[in-house]
Amino acid sequence: MAKAKKEKDAEELNQEHYQLIILGSGPAGLSAALYAARAELKPLLLTGMELHGQVSLTYLIENYPGFPDGVGGSQLGEIMQKQAEKFGAQVLYETADYVDLSGSPYKINTYGKNFTASALIIATGALPNHLNVPGEKELTGKGVSYCATCDGWFFKDRRVVVVGGGDSALEEAIFITRFAASVKLVHRRSEFRGSALLQERARQNPKIELVLNHVITAIHGDQAVNAVTSKDVITGIETQIPTDGVFIFIGHKPNSSLFTNQLDMDANGYIRTNMKLETNVPGVFVAGEVADPDYRQVVTSAGMGAAAAIQADRYLNK
Ligand code: NAP
Repeated sequence: MAKAKKEKDAEELNQEHYQLIILGSGPAGLSAALYAARAELKPLLLTGMELHGQVSLTYLIENYPGFPDGVGGSQLGEIMQKQAEKFGAQVLYETADYVDLSGSPYKINTYGKNFTASALIIATGALPNHLNVPGEKELTGKGVSYCATCDGWFFKDRRVVVVGGGDSALEEAIFITRFAASVKLVHRRSEFRGSALLQERARQNPKIELVLNHVITAIHGDQAVNAVTSKDVITGIETQIPTDGVFIFIGHKPNSSLFTNQLDMDANGYIRTNMKLETNVPGVFVAGEVADPDYRQVVTSAGMGAAAAIQADRYLNK
């Protein structure tokens, strides 16, 4: 009864009410929308600014099951959206800019539109930190990459520069040596932040050359990357390093700022969840990279989205 009254109140305030709203249009959000639509929850998905999320930045995805010849990142996003819409998911090209989780139904506002929802799935993703140097944006997908698992294979027998000094940079530099002819690991300090074990493995790897106390100040190339400018932070001297690819691993930032002081998060802003993808607020679930600092794969995000939708269905129908 109380729930029905709240839903009526929402209507009176001219807010559109949905049983389930999904925030984010990457593989997690779109998989959640597919499962929720097939459970007849009539979900509304708000895409956010980055339509189809990080997947749209990847040229070719060769590790998503079911596509033995690979699938274009943007193509995969489009197919996933089409499939969710086929079963009744409503996709709106809107970005949530205000969320109130203090009581059900939860309030979600975009620029100019107000919604309420009995349940919410947050799939707002994460963004890799960027160097913000000339050439980086223009050459993303043309030699600049933020995902070695996705793109490492394309650099078979090629020269690669890896940027960063944490576990990700060390681990991914070692991974890329499976393919690349040589890897220059460029880090801005003389000491690595990453674990001693990974440092040792990187130092022992004959394909890896450490370039310490250096920062990348520009990435060059026309149709594809062909060099970077590397600056010695002690002497200030700049040198050009010829390379075919630049992998940047300088941390990620989960897109969770909308939920600050509303949802439990770890020190890095990843939303805390349990095996059922529940947050600390009943009826609010989370899926994909906004809650996953570990795997960051299309298939794992899609799996989390499906699981979150199943949990949301159980919550709404219990
Ligand atoms: P991270 O630990 O935050 O390291 C980021 C690295 O990027 C640091 O070395 C930092 O340099 C450098 N950096 C940041 N901004 C930069 C800039 N503008 N220009 C140049 N360099 C910049 O990030 P992460 O490596 O992605 O790791 C994130 C978390 O996941 C960590 O807790 C890590 O332990 C964990 N992780 C664990 C594993 C594993 O256990 N196998 C694998 C991957 C990640 P400074 O050091 O100078 O700050």
